[in-house]
Amino acid sequence: MSDAPALILPEKTRSIGNDLRRILGLDKVKDDFPTITAYSVDASIYKVVPKAVVTAETEEDIAATVAYAVAAGVPITPRAAGTNLTGSAVGEGIILDCGRMNRILELNVAERWVRVQPGLHLTEFNKKLEPHGLMYGPDPSSRDMCKLGGMLANNSAGPHTLRYGSVKDNVHAIRIHLTTGAWLAAEVLADGDPATSALLAAHPPLAETLALVRKHADLIRSRKPKVSKNSTGYNLFGLVDGLDQGVVDLPKLFVGSEGTLGVISEATLKLVEKPTATATALIHFRHLEDIGQAVFDLLPLTPMALEVMDANTLNLIGRAAHGVPADAAATLLAEFDGSRGFSIAEILERVKAICRKYRLCQDPTIAVEKAHQEQLWKARNALYPTLYRYDARKKPINYVDDVVVPADRIAELVQYLSSFFKHQDVNVAIFGHIGNGNAHIVPLLDVSDRHDFEAMVAGYHEIHQTVVTRFGGSICGEHGDGRVRAEFVPKYFGEELYALFKQVKAAFDPRSVLNPGVKISTTPFTEHIDYVRLSKPCATCGKCNSVLPYGLPGRRGCVGSHHEEAGRASQQAGRGHLRLAGKAVALRAVPQAHGPHAGALGSSAAAPGYGTGTGSAPAAARADGEAARGHGPAQARPAAVARAVRGVDGRARMPGAGGLLSRLRGQLLPGWRGRGGDRRAEEERH
Ligand SMILES: Cc1cc2nc3c(=O)[nH]c(=O)nc-3n(C[C@H](O)[C@H](O)[C@H](O)COP(=O)(O)OP(=O)(O)OC[C@H]3O[C@@H](n4cnc5c(N)ncnc54)[C@H](O)[C@@H]3O)c2cc1C
Ligand code: SF4
Repeated sequence: MSDAPALILPEKTRSIGNDLRRILGLDKVKDDFPTITAYSVDASIYKVVPKAVVTAETEEDIAATVAYAVAAGVPITPRAAGTNLTGSAVGEGIILDCGRMNRILELNVAERWVRVQPGLHLTEFNKKLEPHGLMYGPDPSSRDMCKLGGMLANNSAGPHTLRYGSVKDNVHAIRIHLTTGAWLAAEVLADGDPATSALLAAHPPLAETLALVRKHADLIRSRKPKVSKNSTGYNLFGLVDGLDQGVVDLPKLFVGSEGTLGVISEATLKLVEKPTATATALIHFRHLEDIGQAVFDLLPLTPMALEVMDANTLNLIGRAAHGVPADAAATLLAEFDGSRGFSIAEILERVKAICRKYRLCQDPTIAVEKAHQEQLWKARNALYPTLYRYDARKKPINYVDDVVVPADRIAELVQYLSSFFKHQDVNVAIFGHIGNGNAHIVPLLDVSDRHDFEAMVAGYHEIHQTVVTRFGGSICGEHGDGRVRAEFVPKYFGEELYALFKQVKAAFDPRSVLNPGVKISTTPFTEHIDYVRLSKPCATCGKCNSVLPYGLPGRRGCVGSHHEEAGRASQQAGRGHLRLAGKAVALRAVPQAHGPHAGALGSSAAAPGYGTGTGSAPAAARADGEAARGHGPAQARPAAVARAVRGVDGRARMPGAGGLLSRLRGQLLPGWRGRGGDRRAEEERH
């Protein structure tokens, strides 16, 4: 199968938007400069400008867009919130934004499952489940921004994966549209059952894949990663495991396939009981090498989460700001509930006893109250944005960000990495889900600088190779392959298994239109790096995009360059008017990518919820107006006012905008806490 993306001929380039408008209508297709600029980036290091953006509202929209892409040979990239760190939601053809398909379709509390659309934000979803005492187990740190479609396609995970597993362990079924034009209900089916045979007969790509998996089951078993998490390659391992147990476990194939095998329109998810009481322990170790044994001692207490931050990460986030002792070599954050045979009180006694065995900087800090627990989690949750703000030139660059090793070797891994980066003269943060042996490695680099660029390329190959050969680990635990790891996938799995992956891809996507360049691609990871954006103060960590429109100062001095760029372009995009303090002021039109309830970059504007239906860009602008008058959703108000400030000023940014913004907020939003309060609110959010 050719690795080359589908060909976009010049005449097609000009007509893609027009063709799609004829098929889908005017409202759902955009190819204006601000829109394609906003959708040209995600939270990765890459930039790829698409030809058109489709905002799908129905399954018919998905089917029609895929049919057009297949017939015309145009690449198509499904997209949710755009918070992936790998470049998997940017593409050169059509971006298919499913963010407006954001409803809970069916909830069964007694049996603990839910049928959802892909555009739901995880946090909003969990808020809907809370009154029923339920929640979704996998919890990426990007939970406030990311959406279920992206989580499914990336097999996302998070701190609580230690207890609940990753997305692949929490899915009953997926409804997915294939390039054949068919909809597939991918469920767990009995092997050999007539219904299973009928399904395979109806879907030749599936039948071909299953035949390949049966034929090469021994090869697949022999190459299965031997660590507790893996999100690299296609999960043929899950299919083989299923067949060994007499089932055809179809969701395993599609979860983690990163939009390269089909487009998801629905999923039936397993839910878990939300713990009624939890306890958090923050433990500062004086010696890194003690961490491995301490984790080994704590695991029998069945923690819900075990997170680690290394010494340099603690330096980078600021020890004083987070009360971290100066002599801490590593910090462990452990969370427990009382659901697995031990009461919380018993667990805490045991935690204290375990801690006495080690050389700690001080007694562990224990929190049982929610506010205190959140305080202990604050440093961990604020990590990414803090790193983005650390240095004006050197940015956190995700290229070896997600390795997994056996949990008891994580201290050894941190020691190896610390000395590797010291030798390279590169500042690095190492943190992650230590209970799963999953380390996030985030070096701070200026990729436009020759030394840093060469350090990145050398580190990419050497660290991945070392993780595989010395530690027997995986190159990816939860973030996906995307564009960044695709180059290393054949090296990790070997050519034989990689050839199978390519056959699976070819079976489902013979014209290579589904997200080319992602997962199955030999394009070097250095292609499409967005050097311009990475040299600016904001590198689109995605954290603030849900509350601030582009072109405005971001958090604590962060200026969203992606916002700026699209914002400048959008000045020609049209203006509305909003009455402020009795005066009409210009209100910039709100591109659909940045509505008040938008998640990170390029997500849709509609508010998620039961049967809320779909939103539209003009509707979003109206909602802002309402919000500014005090009638709209609370979340929308700062964004609406901020847009109004921009309208008064007429520029993308202006000196002192923060003060004016603050005053306007004070006038329009009774109870607004002013600049200090604003900052406090931001800190709480981080
Ligand atoms: C600050 C920060 C912290 C993060 N922390 C974590 C973490 O703790 N754990 C973790 O796992 N990840 C983490 N991530 C990465 C990212 O947030 C997750 O992978 C997230 O689940 C992606 O969701 P999204 O909605 O942004 O998807 P997108 O980025 O929009 O898309 C991700 C992939 O899904 C595909 N896709 C989207 N919708 C569909 C669909 N309907 N059908 C088929 N394919 C589709 C896209 O093509 C793409 O390949 C973090 C990112 C940031 C910026
Ligand atoms: S402006 Fe927002 S998106 Fe950009 S780095 Fe700062 S917090 Fe992240």
